[in-house]
Amino acid sequence: MNCREVNSKLADLLLDAREAPVEARRHLDGCADCRVEWSELRATMNLMDEWAAPEVNPYFDAKLLARLRGEQQARPAGFLERLRARVMYGSSFRMQPLMAGALAVVFMVGGGTYFDLEVYNQRPQESATVRDLQSLDGNSQVFQHLDSVDQTVDQQNPASGDGLGVPSSD
Ligand SMILES: [Zn+2]
Repeated sequence: MNCREVNSKLADLLLDAREAPVEARRHLDGCADCRVEWSELRATMNLMDEWAAPEVNPYFDAKLLARLRGEQQARPAGFLERLRARVMYGSSFRMQPLMAGALAVVFMVGGGTYFDLEVYNQRPQESATVRDLQSLDGNSQVFQHLDSVDQTVDQQNPASGDGLGVPSSD
C-alpha cells in the first residue's frame, strides 16, 4: 500500500482499527508522513467529540410562537384577494359565468401587477417556470371567457339556454 491508499483508510483506522486493512496499519508503523496525517485527523475527531450543541434559549419556543401569531394577524389578505375569494367561494351571491369572465378580465388586466407583488411574493418557493405556466393557464382561461362573450354577442339567440349564451363546453 502506498501513502495515498493509506490516506483513504485513515478514517477507518481511527473509527475501527480492526476493520482497516492490515497493510494500512503496517504502513502507518513505518511511514512518518502518514503517521502525522493520522495524528492530525485523530486530533480533529477528538475536537468534534468534545463539541456540544449550544443550549437552546428556554424562551425560544414561546418567542417563536408569539412571533408567528403576530405575523398571521399582521398580514390580512389584500383587498383583491378577498374579493376574489368571495367571488370564487362565497355563498352570499352566485356569480353568473359571464360576470365571472368579465371579472377575470378585470383581475388579469387591472390586478396583474398587484398579484405579481402580493400573491407571488408570498410563495417564494415557486419557481419562475411554475409562475409562467400559471400565468399562461390564467390567460387561456381569460381568452376562453372572452370567446364565450363574443359568441353571446354574435348569436343574440335567446334559445341558447339561460339567456347568457355561455357554451356548455366550458
Ligand atoms: Zn505513508
